[in-house]
Amino acid sequence: MRNAWLPSDVPDPDHALEAVAVRIWQRAAAVDAAAAFPAKDIADLVTSGTIAACADLLDDNALPILSTIGAASLTVGRLFEGHLNAVKLANRYGDAEATDIVAAEIAAGRILGVWNAERGGGVTATRIDGGYRLDGGKVHCSGAGTIRRPVVTASLNGDTQMFLPDLVSPRVGIDLAIWRAAGMRGTATGSVTFDGLEVPDAAVLGSLGDYYRSPWFSGGAWRVIAVQLGALDRIMALHADRLRDDPVARARFAAAAGAHEAARLHVREAARRAETPNSNPEEIDAYVDLARGTFETAALTIIEATRRNVGLSSFIAPDPLDRCLRDLETYLRQPFLDASRDHAARWLAARGGRFSA
Ligand SMILES: Cc1cc2nc3c(=O)[nH]c(=O)nc-3n(C[C@H](O)[C@H](O)[C@H](O)COP(=O)(O)OP(=O)(O)OC[C@H]3O[C@@H](n4cnc5c(N)ncnc54)[C@H](O)[C@@H]3O)c2cc1C
Repeated sequence: MRNAWLPSDVPDPDHALEAVAVRIWQRAAAVDAAAAFPAKDIADLVTSGTIAACADLLDDNALPILSTIGAASLTVGRLFEGHLNAVKLANRYGDAEATDIVAAEIAAGRILGVWNAERGGGVTATRIDGGYRLDGGKVHCSGAGTIRRPVVTASLNGDTQMFLPDLVSPRVGIDLAIWRAAGMRGTATGSVTFDGLEVPDAAVLGSLGDYYRSPWFSGGAWRVIAVQLGALDRIMALHADRLRDDPVARARFAAAAGAHEAARLHVREAARRAETPNSNPEEIDAYVDLARGTFETAALTIIEATRRNVGLSSFIAPDPLDRCLRDLETYLRQPFLDASRDHAARWLAARGGRFSA
């Protein structure tokens, strides 16, 4: 606990992000083994002020924070990135009532998230007196069962509308039993159903179409690879500790190190471009799309080199590489990756194959 007599502007080293990250890393094996939501880690981030600070993280200052948490635990990094995304959406598009909902959740020590993925019909919104009714289901909802006010997307009049529904209702069903994933086991990524859940107008977030608005939707994906970059940093450090004095192993390590450096530079530049005001939105989308594809290739190179160099023990718990590699392999599965590469290629091909400086 932070010493209550300390004035709020006096930093407490025990609650600096680096100290919190060490504790998250120490607890990561237990979170993975229990496949349980990392409540202590989130509480630690709340106490450190990191959860509340998201409201002010409006530029690429978020990069080292995302990577530091990702290096400690990709599971916690994923949850933090979802929270940051929700806060940014509320800041950008929300009115006073929506931002009040977000502020109240943070004050209560809860994180938020963004639940957009769906299979089949997804969620539909129907206008009712004083608000909307939500019907249908979402899949892959991280933090399901813990997050109370997620940003949920729903189709409305042929477009997409965001809501901040209160999930404390018998009209909401949460199924975590389906989350038996190889990695990211503590993210509590479940399916959520809505059976006529009423959402008042005060919990509508933004306007129709805001969710996918360019460049914030595609461009904002730099934050996902910033979290994953932390995992690459950690895996490279663990790999370096185990590197054999052997030229074949060193050659694989060099390939991994090159991929790591390329990924690091690409993430940093994607963050800079995406968060530079007045940049060309189309170019941001194309750049971040390319960065996502390049990052995936680099990460797969690092995973393969690490597994081959370290060998079988990298597949066996409690070796930390086992967990880090499983988490990364799972979290690398992201939406539209091939389509993103294709979009970047088409954009570049029409412009001589280069981005502007
Ligand atoms: C740990 C974790 C937590 C997550 N948490 C959340 C969350 O909180 N909220 C949320 O909204 N989502 C969440 N997701 C889900 C995420 O947003 C994606 O929906 C999911 O990761 C997609 O992965 P996928 O490999 O099934 O991708 P898909 O997009 O289904 O792709 C699978 C394959 O099909 C191909 N493909 C897909 N569509 C086409 C097409 N039209 N034509 C040709 N090929 C196609 C792709 O190229 C790829 O090869 C989470 C995912 C993970 C891993």
